[in-house]
Amino acid sequence: MKLKHTPVTRHCCSNIEFYLKRDDWLHPQFSGNKARKFMALLDDTLPHIETLIGYGSPQANSLYSMAALANLKQWQLRFYVDHIPSWLKQHPNGNYRAALELGAELIETRPTFDCAPEHYLNDYKVKDNELLVPEGGRSPIAKQGVTQLATEILEWTSQQPASHWVVALPSGTGTTSLYLHQTLKEHHIEVVTCSCVGGDEYLIQQWQELGADDFPSILNLGNKHHFGKLYEADYLMWQKLQAQTEVEFDLLYDPFMWRCLETWWPTQNNKQLLYIHQGGILGNESMLPRYQRKYRSC
Ligand SMILES: *Cc1c(COP(=O)(O)O)cnc(C)c1O
Repeated sequence: MKLKHTPVTRHCCSNIEFYLKRDDWLHPQFSGNKARKFMALLDDTLPHIETLIGYGSPQANSLYSMAALANLKQWQLRFYVDHIPSWLKQHPNGNYRAALELGAELIETRPTFDCAPEHYLNDYKVKDNELLVPEGGRSPIAKQGVTQLATEILEWTSQQPASHWVVALPSGTGTTSLYLHQTLKEHHIEVVTCSCVGGDEYLIQQWQELGADDFPSILNLGNKHHFGKLYEADYLMWQKLQAQTEVEFDLLYDPFMWRCLETWWPTQNNKQLLYIHQGGILGNESMLPRYQRKYRSC
């Protein structure tokens, strides 16, 4: 099975006209950023593998994407988490519920082994029929799938009137923005991103750990954005995006990138914007009620 060539749609928000690369439409279950990063595992024949091993948060997009990948490959997914909050066990939703429905097996390392998942897996000896994927796909295995995305972007822009193209996408680990930049820079396409997880220095450090010394441009708003924290401005931005584009964006990453673009874009001249929709919509099932409880008046 080969998944690629997602469409591009056109929108306007906050007076910014932009094109949107619909990676949210890659596949009903295996879509968005994590699908691109794990694509090599889908495309390559790995006949000896029977079990995929991952770790991270029980609500992570990568949990759901790995469950979808395992399902497509007819592998078993074993996913290690620190612990599963009791409210989530009682009312499974979002990525967690969907991963369970796809047959994922979750293991809580804190109650069982009294340590964090990374710790447990450090000492774990991976068997010949098992494949361990680093958290969130922070790994060179992501390069193949992200380079395919870059190739699609190049094919698409080459069919558009000549222009100075800017590709925008928010970063977590920065793996996706870096690999896009590495392919697109020689075609004079500028990649801009923002650090949703731990500030600009953290992002640069992640890129250096992937062996890079030339990076995408980082936009910011002057202060650090904390991952998973509820920002009223993010919620308002998300609502505005929804109202003006009729597209659902993710609540963890996209609103901050758009807030950065709102200040930066008007300072740029004669450029065209292509924004990458990196999926993650299922995570909104747990984020949206949190926002609604906190900012009920909005
Ligand atoms: C994981 C993820 C990101 C961040 O991707 P990185 O390659 O870690 O920077 C952005 N958006 C969504 C929806 C994601 O799931």
